[in-house]
Amino acid sequence: MYVFDQSPLYQNVMAVLEDAGNVINLNRNALERLKRPKRTLVVSVPVRMDDDQIKVFMGYRVQHNQALGPFKGGLRFHPSVNLGEVAGLATLMTFKNSLLNLPLGGAKGGVEVDPTALSKSELEQLTRTFTREIALLIGQDHDIPAPDVGTDAQTMAWMLDAWSNHTGFNQTGVVTGKPVEVGGSKGRDSATGHGVVFIAEKALSVFQRDLKGASMAIQGFGKVGMHAAILAHRLGAKVVAVSDVSGAIYHPEGLNIPEVVQHIEENRILRGCPNAQVISHEELLGMDVDVLAPCALDGVITEDNYHIVKAKIIVEGANGPVTTKASEELTKKGCFIVPDILANGGGVVVSYFEWVQDIGWLFWNLDEVESKLKTIMHKSFDVVHGFSQEHGKSMRTSAMAVSLKRLEKAMKLRGQAW
Ligand code: GLU
Repeated sequence: MYVFDQSPLYQNVMAVLEDAGNVINLNRNALERLKRPKRTLVVSVPVRMDDDQIKVFMGYRVQHNQALGPFKGGLRFHPSVNLGEVAGLATLMTFKNSLLNLPLGGAKGGVEVDPTALSKSELEQLTRTFTREIALLIGQDHDIPAPDVGTDAQTMAWMLDAWSNHTGFNQTGVVTGKPVEVGGSKGRDSATGHGVVFIAEKALSVFQRDLKGASMAIQGFGKVGMHAAILAHRLGAKVVAVSDVSGAIYHPEGLNIPEVVQHIEENRILRGCPNAQVISHEELLGMDVDVLAPCALDGVITEDNYHIVKAKIIVEGANGPVTTKASEELTKKGCFIVPDILANGGGVVVSYFEWVQDIGWLFWNLDEVESKLKTIMHKSFDVVHGFSQEHGKSMRTSAMAVSLKRLEKAMKLRGQAW
């Protein structure tokens, strides 16, 4: 047993890999290789805190597989970050990028830190030191980080600057999810959330339902959940409940999302939001809605609480929010679950657009980005749903199967799974 295997998230990813591998009769050599990341870097990140004390944080970059192209995946700043979790998330990135047909491999990184407990200058220092430590791995043709939980466009701007200073030249394609002013793409900040809505639209259409008028509960009101709520509301869905760390709020007729966003902009947390009823996190997860979108962290719906879920459709805006066991049980109960590698793929799709624009010194307008994003999300859904119908498998297994088939082909052609 290796250290990765101690992580529940890693174990979950291995379980779906095995399961989908069986369905497509995946080449044994390819399976063996996909079970372990190609390369792992563990670094310490010393930061001189504002009180002059040095604190050392642990950082990671895991490069899982590059059969389809350069390594690509986000960076997470969160207290739960550990090697196993990062390795599991890197593996998921390989599957996600393959499923979405992007010419990119899979990677992930992170620092075990609570970014909300650091001052801005401590956070900047942490980001710059971490960037220098992983500079030997990253680069526009090697490995391209992006935001994830606890990181954002500002983090990417600091990374770009630290990397440029370190290497002595400027190459904006070294990270994606940057602010537009320093080589970012229009529509990147809202991409994951919008992708979630495009997928919800498709999932509802399987049940001959429109997004307009459909009820939605969204767990997490950060980069993903907030943008999902804004677009869903704009397109006429009834977003009845949303939540963040401070609690959950509810309105039976649908929350006034622009008002909720304004409250967040002024107060940073949902607590105290007007014209809404306060409910518990459990009540949100157990809401009788058409679509439940968990858009925060992994392991939210588990063996212990899946029985409270009443939603007809779950769209996994976060990575790994429904555990394998819970997913199986809910699917048996008739719940239609769109898995993370499909549902939250909008972020990396627009990261790919950003990278393409950076490499070509191009600038696309927002309509171009949004319509290309929608096309890829809808098409990917159709392919996965088609597989699921044809083979009588869940959407999770089908998404993995479609992804693995592409990967297997590339690995075979490159001689990685002879
Ligand atoms: N962190 C996001 C994800 O998990 C985006 C990754 C990227 O854009 O490279 O998909």
